[in-house]
Amino acid sequence: MGVDCLFCRIVAGEIPATIVRETPTTLAFRDIDPKAPTHILVIPKEHYVDVATLAQGTPELAGEVLQTAALVAEEEGLTVDGFRLMFNTGPYGGQEVFHVHAHLLGGAPLGPMLCR
Ligand code: 5GP
Ligand code: ZN
Repeated sequence: MGVDCLFCRIVAGEIPATIVRETPTTLAFRDIDPKAPTHILVIPKEHYVDVATLAQGTPELAGEVLQTAALVAEEEGLTVDGFRLMFNTGPYGGQEVFHVHAHLLGGAPLGPMLCR
């Protein structure tokens, strides 16, 4: 477990979360402060700081995170109209929780990718 990591604590069941899908290696749960009608976080249960570390260290697990995200998108009815899947990474990427997580966003038009 990452030292005092919020998402490791969710994996451990120490902090409650609304879990929508669990696999042996991944977890998907609703974001506590949703930025779209559907906003789900998808994580590997194992602690990796960010998507680059995960993808380079354990590409199979990165694939499992994407697979869980795709299944959840389907279950949430997002595949017809589309959705956004994103990994904020590092300070310029706006990452606040340093346990890699994919944001699965959908349920309405999401607007431009970036505000300038
Ligand atoms: P980041 O900014 O690191 O890409 O995204 C972190 C996300 O975690 C934010 O969207 C934030 O709302 C969400 N978050 C922060 N604390 C909690 C929590 O305790 N539970 C859940 N479910 N989401 C959280
Ligand atoms: Zn962690």
